[in-house]
Amino acid sequence: MDVISSPAETQRRALELKRAGKTIGFVPTMGFLHEGHLSLMRLARARCDVLVASVFVNPAQFGPNEDLDAYPRDFERDEALCAGEGVDLVFYPEPATMYAPDASVWVDEDALSGGLCGSARPGHFRGVCTVVAKLFNLVQPDFAVFGEKDAQQLRIIERMVRDLNFPIEIIRGPIVREPDGLAMSSRNKYLDEEQRRNARCLRRALDAAAALFAAGERAVPALRSAMVELVESTPGARIDYVEFVDDASLVPLTEIAEAALVALAVGFGTTRLIDNAVLSVY
Ligand code: AMP
Repeated sequence: MDVISSPAETQRRALELKRAGKTIGFVPTMGFLHEGHLSLMRLARARCDVLVASVFVNPAQFGPNEDLDAYPRDFERDEALCAGEGVDLVFYPEPATMYAPDASVWVDEDALSGGLCGSARPGHFRGVCTVVAKLFNLVQPDFAVFGEKDAQQLRIIERMVRDLNFPIEIIRGPIVREPDGLAMSSRNKYLDEEQRRNARCLRRALDAAAALFAAGERAVPALRSAMVELVESTPGARIDYVEFVDDASLVPLTEIAEAALVALAVGFGTTRLIDNAVLSVY
């Protein structure tokens, strides 16, 4: 397995592989890898000749008061985990080599990015789209795998690929959870013992909505109340949002006629956790 920090060298290597007729699979990450990331690598490994993973904590997607400096990092461990999953090349760039000091071109999605995490994190998806577009140009993948854990991000990347004609297939990877249901996240490391226990309320709230939905409830206010009640009765939990949106357009719903993406963000101290599920009548 090769580790390359230089963007130019990574692109040179990728173009060479393409010329040799190799299919390239790609899993972009911010590192501090866990089973969620590794599951995406396994999905990708099975379908490509060359598997590329990137480890890059992208400054452009963090707001001024967010956790860029505190974001957990352990590259040696990440490297070993990538090797264990059969990754061929890890792209591990320095921020200074990814963004020119006078960088002035950005990729902005302006239909799906406004609500959910977009309202709590202005500029976040502009940073995500820009870095993913840059990574696609550097890595030249045939396909890239993104986790359903970041449901809004996934849909925005799919839209970017469609609207900017990237010749890349986006593959969705299911959410990987801890045994008690908490979605795996690098940010779970910030939680103290009590917060970690209480963080189960995200999945429990999703389960509560799913149970009502299975019993025939289609009205969003009723489904949403059950979730809000559950989270609000959890010590230390602070709701950022609990939303039911159309699974494709991300427009808020009052009733579920087809498929709803149910997404929530909940704060515990300074840690913000997200989770989601799709409720579909089909
Ligand atoms: P991150 O390192 O948090 O930027 O995540 C990198 C990729 O891993 C993204 O496509 C995420 O959606 C995905 N991912 C993160 N956590 C999980 C999880 N628990 N299950 C599945 N995919 C995940």
